[in-house]
Amino acid sequence: MARMSKKKHRDRSWAPAPEALPADTQVVDNHTHVASVVPFARAMSHEAMEKGQPEVPVYSVDELLQQAASVGVTGIIDCGCELPNLMTAVDMAREHDHVHAALAIHPNEAVHHGHRAAPGPDGLPVKYQPWHDVSFEDALAEVHRLAVTYPKQVVAIGETGMDLFRTGEQAKELQREAFRAHIALAKELGLPMQIHDRDSHKEVIETLLADGAPERTVFHSYSGDVEMAEIARDHGWYLSFSGTCSYKGNDGIRESLRIVGLDHAMVETDAPYLTPMPYRGRTNAPYMIPYTLQAMADTLDMSIAEVACGTRETTRKVYGIE
Ligand SMILES: [Zn+2]
Repeated sequence: MARMSKKKHRDRSWAPAPEALPADTQVVDNHTHVASVVPFARAMSHEAMEKGQPEVPVYSVDELLQQAASVGVTGIIDCGCELPNLMTAVDMAREHDHVHAALAIHPNEAVHHGHRAAPGPDGLPVKYQPWHDVSFEDALAEVHRLAVTYPKQVVAIGETGMDLFRTGEQAKELQREAFRAHIALAKELGLPMQIHDRDSHKEVIETLLADGAPERTVFHSYSGDVEMAEIARDHGWYLSFSGTCSYKGNDGIRESLRIVGLDHAMVETDAPYLTPMPYRGRTNAPYMIPYTLQAMADTLDMSIAEVACGTRETTRKVYGIE
């Protein structure tokens, strides 16, 4: 019941834009899914209409990019991590100067390719999609092909990694193998790698250390604790902070930022999810980045401009983009 009433009152509208970053201060959202924001917003708009809430506009990719630029978020790395979305991210990067792409087969996708994984421990049926008929090897070959064909657009392999949130033992090993294949690919191509790590800190670190991490390894939407941040610092890995670093219970994430410092920290939305405070639960989009920068600035006791410049510099160093 509590759940239902919460849902009923959910606000589907867009959060107001934050104050723009100071003039001449520009940042890059180094991990987002703008291609997914549009259909997500469409669903929100539809729900609002059904509930008799005020109209929720559906913005195009161009409009979302303009909104972001108007608050100082002048670039994005759009992540395509399902086989049918790879080319969408590449096309967006081809059409816009300050858009780049990160490509991979997401860990939760990797296990479905070739219909390999058994259901997880929760017994939920596997949701196969038509593209899961393709073997994992062939799907990853497409990531490889696009990265080589569009070297100016594809600046990272990601998101790859492990996700043990609802994953059974068989899928766990398939994920690990898929992760290893991505590590090898990132190293072969000399590209940075963006890691998705959900409830799998130990397994991800084990695998990175066993195989040897790519030179530029990024934990996207970092969710670890102090101990993990120390390991990352010792290996020169990078942490990318999303809206979760503004959530009340996440002292470990904030302390991790202090440990690695700005020269190993970046900022992201992971939109349409993980909207920063005070708008948690609304639709996320790159224009929301300044809220997360503010949480980082509060954590580091610095100005938002200093944090913006620091993360920008790190982004430039990791991906070689302006
Ligand atoms: Zn993501």
